[in-house]
Amino acid sequence: MSEQQARFNRRHLLTSSALFGAGMLSGCKRSETCPPAQLAADDTKLRATMHYTDRSPDPAKLCNGCQQYLPNTDADCGGCKLLKGPIHPAGYCIAFSAKS
Ligand code: SF4
Repeated sequence: MSEQQARFNRRHLLTSSALFGAGMLSGCKRSETCPPAQLAADDTKLRATMHYTDRSPDPAKLCNGCQQYLPNTDADCGGCKLLKGPIHPAGYCIAFSAKS
């Protein structure tokens, strides 16, 4: 291995490690799902009826882009004016209504 190849490999290793570390850190900033809530049976049923999910199937329709979303700056998950319990900013339900 030439000195130039060795230098490139060291630089590539350092860059890859830095990018990998940054990705791991950014991935830790937000939970993938909201913590389970203790809800009344009717509220749990409404979430299911509205097909609420912590992961929207459509990137253009996320809870944090919905008129009903209530952000919570102290936690990963916010709330919703229609559904009780924690609402993930990247979530979705069939009542989605884009903010104007
Ligand atoms: Fe999310 Fe549905 Fe509430 Fe809108 S109405 S914030 S899409 S759960």
